[in-house]
Amino acid sequence: MSDMIRENLEEVKNRIRAAEEKSKRVGKTTLIAVSKTKPVEMIREAYDTGIRDFGENRVQEIVEKYPLLPSDIRWHLIGHLQTNKVKYIIDKVVMIHSVDSYKLAEEISRQAVKHNVCMDILIEVNVAEEESKFGVSVEEAPELCEKISRLEGIRVRGLMTVAPFTDDPDENRAVFCALRQLLVDIDGKNIDNVCMDCLSMGMSGDYQVAIEEGATMVRVGTSIFGNRQYM
Ligand SMILES: *Cc1c(COP(=O)(O)O)cnc(C)c1O
Repeated sequence: MSDMIRENLEEVKNRIRAAEEKSKRVGKTTLIAVSKTKPVEMIREAYDTGIRDFGENRVQEIVEKYPLLPSDIRWHLIGHLQTNKVKYIIDKVVMIHSVDSYKLAEEISRQAVKHNVCMDILIEVNVAEEESKFGVSVEEAPELCEKISRLEGIRVRGLMTVAPFTDDPDENRAVFCALRQLLVDIDGKNIDNVCMDCLSMGMSGDYQVAIEEGATMVRVGTSIFGNRQYM
């Protein structure tokens, strides 16, 4: 049991490496260990193997775990964020992956200026247009990037998507490919204060395919920490 996380991480890193080699992009992927619902002891185990990027999807969990863990952890907020909760995490996370409205971006900007930080954000895109998912459409994304780029204290760094759940990761290849193309298209607009260098896509079931299609960040939970139990 005690070596489970270390062994899982070895396996995930090997698979990342294989996918990078296949796409000739060795060393270009940041592994974000998604620790939602998992106790700080497990996070520390991953930390002790050298992992520094952790992803959480709830504000409350970051707020609780933050003071209990080393300060050089880079926390990523990857889940839906309510405007009224921005103030709790603005000084704790390095990146917000899930920006899907101008209203939310405005509040991030307001809080960032107040705390004298510049927050890196990604625009969440619902590429597959699933009813149940957050995110803007592919069509809406460029204009939202452009609008947000004029806000102070906030920097658009790229795009994020949560691909459909599937048993066959190849089914999500087109989704990942479309997000990459959108990134290239927006980058081509040369918008001031927009630096499209991050593509956050791929989870336990499909991160290898995502890397083959250009992911620079993969968000992996279950394959590192095991299945989650929800209350
Ligand atoms: C939970 C979650 C993940 C990780 O999912 P796994 O399938 O456990 O790897 C990635 N991204 C987001 C946005 C999540 O909420």
